[in-house]
Amino acid sequence: MKKPFDPDLVRRGRLIRGLGALRGMLPGSFVERNRSCGRPTCHCADGKILHSQYQISVLVDGKPKAFNIPVELVEKVREKTDMRRRFDDAAAAIRDINLKRFLREKENC
Ligand SMILES: [Zn+2]
Repeated sequence: MKKPFDPDLVRRGRLIRGLGALRGMLPGSFVERNRSCGRPTCHCADGKILHSQYQISVLVDGKPKAFNIPVELVEKVREKTDMRRRFDDAAAAIRDINLKRFLREKENC
């Protein structure tokens, strides 16, 4: 007998299959800071147009760390930290579906 159509299972399957595309995810968050470099002759000295500095902020062994990102890698890192957010969202949605299914199954015991 064919099982009744369950939209939650369809959604869970789609979420699971989408996780592979997020395998390149990076932890932490992407941070952009504006700062002056300290050189008195630089255009940033008046404090109006500052230098952009990009960092990835992560917990390493429970301690917060920030790593500088070279400009040429900014887009890639931004994309990969966004993948982690999407991974977390998918994991949360899968957990919610499973909880709903568990509670329904428990009721029918
Ligand atoms: Zn400067």
